[in-house]
Amino acid sequence: MSEYDYDLFVIGAGSGGVRAARFSANYGGRVAIAEDMFMGGTCVNVGCIPKKLFVYAAHFHEDFADSAAYGWSVEAPSADNFNWRTLVDNKDTEISRLNGIYERLLGNSGVEIVNGRATLVDAHTVAVAGKNYTAKTILVATGGWPVVPDIPGKEHIVTSTEAFYLEELPKRAIVVGGGYIAVEFAGIFNGIGVDTTLMYRGPMFMRGFDDDVRSHLAGEMVKKGIDVRFNTNIASIEKTDGGFIATCEDGSTVETDLIMYATGRAPKTAGLGLEALGVDLADNGAVIVDDHFKSSVDSIYAIGDVIDRVQLTPVALAEGMAVAKTLFRDEPSSADYDYIATAVFSQPPVGTVGLTEEEARARHGDVAIFRSTFRALKHTLTGRDEQTLMKMIVDKKTDRVLGVHMVGADAGEILQGIAVALKAGATKAVFDSTIGIHPTSAEEFVTMREPVPEPVAEAAE
Ligand code: FAD
Ligand code: NDP
Repeated sequence: MSEYDYDLFVIGAGSGGVRAARFSANYGGRVAIAEDMFMGGTCVNVGCIPKKLFVYAAHFHEDFADSAAYGWSVEAPSADNFNWRTLVDNKDTEISRLNGIYERLLGNSGVEIVNGRATLVDAHTVAVAGKNYTAKTILVATGGWPVVPDIPGKEHIVTSTEAFYLEELPKRAIVVGGGYIAVEFAGIFNGIGVDTTLMYRGPMFMRGFDDDVRSHLAGEMVKKGIDVRFNTNIASIEKTDGGFIATCEDGSTVETDLIMYATGRAPKTAGLGLEALGVDLADNGAVIVDDHFKSSVDSIYAIGDVIDRVQLTPVALAEGMAVAKTLFRDEPSSADYDYIATAVFSQPPVGTVGLTEEEARARHGDVAIFRSTFRALKHTLTGRDEQTLMKMIVDKKTDRVLGVHMVGADAGEILQGIAVALKAGATKAVFDSTIGIHPTSAEEFVTMREPVPEPVAEAAE
């Protein structure tokens, strides 16, 4: 008999926690998982899945308009023939189905589900709803939560979490921020007929992405009708009879019906009791872990958004797998953070893997840049002025492809395969010897022959 109730107690049934719990149980562990809000976590309930469904909804606007050039006559799309409640209700139905699937997956693996908020009592004990559970190892997989700046009127702000459940669709919306969530939601609101303003505090949004991608996306979002305002930040918000007035730091004001902040997410560790047990946390509350996701206390591990390495579902899944293998297969495992492909479901979407041009120049020095901007075949008939951007960064010394970036239809779908090639160490010569799939946009990645000319260095005086 073990001295503990369980081998592993997981706190948080999100992407990472569910993966770690299921595989640990499949490998023979006695596992319990606590969840206090929604089965499946952020991604399933208020993240990736409902977001992608909303992106589909938003894109129909253009699809209906574009179909005319292909011979279809449909009523011109407008906010009047879009029903927000239908979208939200159908989304909720699908999410309930997914919640059930997650519950069954856990049950079928033999994981015990404990409903309620968990806190740590000691290094081997978790309390949920007044009951204590002991475990040899405790895994903290509590994810993150949106953070908003402390400005006058912040009580009027919504975040992405509430945006998924709005009772009514606003006529006008301001989205504040310049990361994944801000650009995705600006595209969603704009596509479903909301008069949308995106405000970002700096000169160019999407920090960390390739500069060409950033400026190209900004241009395309403006073309689609989003009022993109850089170097703009809200200083205060006031409620009026009809909506809100946002006063910006430069004194200008904007009237709107909804203000959504997408200004980042912080690890959800407050009140868990970690500090009292001696678990080291970073300044923003993230649990500090080693290569195998062990915290400064031997029996406490952490994965996913709560360790604040890469806030993506597939990364949380990989980290969850690594913990299950480390603890129950005697295979000390880590996660591989190299060449993580990612997509931003903006409109048009962004797909990216590997280094940006700036990073590649800093790390490898001599790089060749291949870049192509074109109108996709579909839009030769529609006349829509949407430009696709494709870019490859190649190490001149080794010919290895260091980074691939795209802004355009299906960028996420296309980049997944390219990520496999980059992970396998593909050189530009391998891309060049690959026969394209015609007619696609993706074939451009194997037909870009001429590098962008190097900027001519100014002659020394
Ligand atoms: P979570 O999925 O957040 O799960 C944590 C769980 O722990 C939650 O269910 C929470 O209720 C529970 N919990 C917290 N504290 C306790 C407690 N004390 N007791 C019991 N339970 C607790 N990633 C992508 O890869 N692709 C996307 O397209 C994408 N889109 C996104 C869109 C939005 C709007 C957001 C917000 C995120 C998106 N992400 C996306 C990020 C992705 O959702 C996260 O990286 C992922 O969910 C992290 O998984 P996790 O297991 O670490 O945490
Ligand atoms: P991000 O960290 O991506 O972006 C936050 C944005 O808010 C940045 O532009 C930042 O500006 C800005 N910001 C931060 N603080 C302030 C402030 N006080 N005032 C004004 N602006 C501010 O966070 P998100 O909330 O967009 O998303 C969280 C994470 O979730 C993402 O990083 C991503 O990992 C994940 N996610 C993934 C998706 C996907 O895979 N498609 C989709 C959605 C989310 P600055 O750059 O100047 O610091």
